[in-house]
Amino acid sequence: MNANILHTPITYLKGVGPGRAELLGSELAVHTYGDLLQVFPNRYIDRTSYYKINELKRTNADVQIIGEITDIRTVSQKRGKRLVATFSDETGSMELVWFRGQKWIANNLKSRTKYVVFGRTNWFNNRFSMPHPEMELLDEHQSSLRTAMQPIYPSTEKLSTRGISNRVMINLMQQLFRETNNSFPETLSENIISDLSLVSRAEALFNIHFPQSQEMIARAKFRLKFEELFYIQLQLISKKLIRKKKIKGFPFEEVGEHFNDFYSNHLPFPLTGAQKKVLKEIRADLGSNAQMNRLLQGDVGSGKTVVALMSMLLALDNGFQACLMAPTEILAIQHYNSLTELLIGMPVEIALLTGSTKKARRSEIHAGLDDGSLQILIGTHAVLEDKVQFTNLGLAIIDEQHRFGVAQRSKLWKKNEKPPHILVMTATPIPRTLAMSLYGDLDISIIDELPPGRKPVRTVHRTDSNRLKLFQFIRDEIKQGRQIYVVYPLIKESEALDYKDLMDGYESLVRDFPMPDYQISIVHGKMKSEDKDYEMQRFVKGQSQIMVATTVIEVGVNIPNASVMVIESAERFGLSQLHQLRGRVGRGADQSYCILMTADQLSTDAQTRISTMVHTNDGFEIAEVDLRLRGPGDLMGTQQSGLLNLKIADIVKDNDVLKTARYYALQTLKKDPELSSEENTVIRKIYAEIMRESGLWNYIS
Ligand code: ADP
Ligand code: MG
Repeated sequence: MNANILHTPITYLKGVGPGRAELLGSELAVHTYGDLLQVFPNRYIDRTSYYKINELKRTNADVQIIGEITDIRTVSQKRGKRLVATFSDETGSMELVWFRGQKWIANNLKSRTKYVVFGRTNWFNNRFSMPHPEMELLDEHQSSLRTAMQPIYPSTEKLSTRGISNRVMINLMQQLFRETNNSFPETLSENIISDLSLVSRAEALFNIHFPQSQEMIARAKFRLKFEELFYIQLQLISKKLIRKKKIKGFPFEEVGEHFNDFYSNHLPFPLTGAQKKVLKEIRADLGSNAQMNRLLQGDVGSGKTVVALMSMLLALDNGFQACLMAPTEILAIQHYNSLTELLIGMPVEIALLTGSTKKARRSEIHAGLDDGSLQILIGTHAVLEDKVQFTNLGLAIIDEQHRFGVAQRSKLWKKNEKPPHILVMTATPIPRTLAMSLYGDLDISIIDELPPGRKPVRTVHRTDSNRLKLFQFIRDEIKQGRQIYVVYPLIKESEALDYKDLMDGYESLVRDFPMPDYQISIVHGKMKSEDKDYEMQRFVKGQSQIMVATTVIEVGVNIPNASVMVIESAERFGLSQLHQLRGRVGRGADQSYCILMTADQLSTDAQTRISTMVHTNDGFEIAEVDLRLRGPGDLMGTQQSGLLNLKIADIVKDNDVLKTARYYALQTLKKDPELSSEENTVIRKIYAEIMRESGLWNYIS
């Protein structure tokens, strides 16, 4: 097989035209044959057994049923219409329901013809129904090639409404295997394969898509997960080895005037024990010869800012400059303001640089950085521009790091001939074990204590029937001069409906809270960024009392006067997101509230999430529950950071595989640090390829 066939653009695959290629690209990031090969099924279902309608249970599982459509009609509902078909077999009847793509479906359904329908059943209005079933004519069903275990591929709203059903995915996969002849070269060494009795790569890939048995699915999964984690660990470990060997940092030997003066004369409050502890850890790093690469975790409000400042003062004491970067302009301004305030009366030069800094000011900043008179720079991505040159940057701090992209962090390193010390601050609690495997060799400090005297946010769970009371409560709070957030969920899979909910909610608030007594701001992802900033600023300045938003406000905005966080459809948010959102309130002296609005009926998981939120404010406890519930899939934005874009392994659930992979990666590098032995030929080759393509390396270095 031509080794490069996996790089073939996906449009070349039979069955994929430009339209499908574009969809696959935008929805699943599939651009090449190789990308498609790596779209792994979420799960498998047994397609050899069929249910009768009178055998259905009210525990919505996936089932397939043979029957006929006897009636099709359109039914109006609160939002729009739905298409409903009566589907019957000899034992009874049920409903098939469509909320999208109704016209096309209505035109193409055949009545009095035998279908096999497949999907998840609901018990609704005393009847079974199946929303958006997968349908196949019985004839075709019987004649098509299939295995007992049918894969279910990841899908999105767009994919399914635009015709890329699971069936189509399976067909594309079959075509892919035909064209590539299922000849995928081995990527692990013979030693490892025999040591762990792994199936070959080709066998694993075939069985993950066309499983021959339950056992083969298990073996295929293990093999692919191992491989994925092995190469990540190989990168992390070898990078650590290189860093320890080659990269010297600037030793900050002095604890000098700036630090001591601040500590004795300007610190507005005693540090908490946790703040002292992490400062000690940071000082130990900075004082040693090696370059610091540290992750500072602390819940919202735990007081990371002052720790950041004191670390920067250490840099200044040793004759170095420092910078602090935030992911948005609003946050950068906030940091600038609070640091300037903390530094009142101290001889420290500090400046703010963002995209909107005027040209004249910009030149001053460049000059100040260049001649060393400017000591601390606070900013956004603007700090990373090539024109921004420090004379001696000794410490770079990144706040809320998961909003920063891969390439950006490595740019910081190039601001000097020697890399500055790096401190990454995040407000998202990550259980330690997870952090280790995610960040490999980053050292970790945790602020696990809030400053004294904080009033914990009071969290309650409410449903639609409480809405009038909720509005009255909002009115009362506004009367007392407080501000309110109302947040709506927005996920890619149901974007269109979510935007509709958001706008409906906004309009209903505008009706109940009319101008001129009330001003309502709205911020969402489809707005231009100037408009977003404008609306945000209105709220920051207190000109509007209510902020309606999607989760764009999640990241560290600090508005002490906002005391109520209403989260709509709270059951649709993940725990860490709920916790982040709640962290937006409770920053001032007033009692704050978080109100979780949900539907009446909740799934078990949703119930757990909501009750966890109601009974604890502890970010780490919440993170643990979150991990248990769903694994780290979207935990702490790993997905959006692209940091670990795992295709198949799951950092938490596959902890054992991870340990095995780490062990083998360590052993491999211990025995053969350059991967130059005969035995490691394959590994060396694959590793070099990954290095050429991967962002992971850049991210961490
Ligand atoms: P975060 O970790 O979310 O960035 P901040 O650094 O913004 O938290 O701190 C939140 C608030 O707590 C700020 O108003 C800050 O002045 C205050 N604060 C920080 N440390 C202490 C402390 N040790 N004692 C009292 N208040 C503190
Ligand atoms: Mg902060």
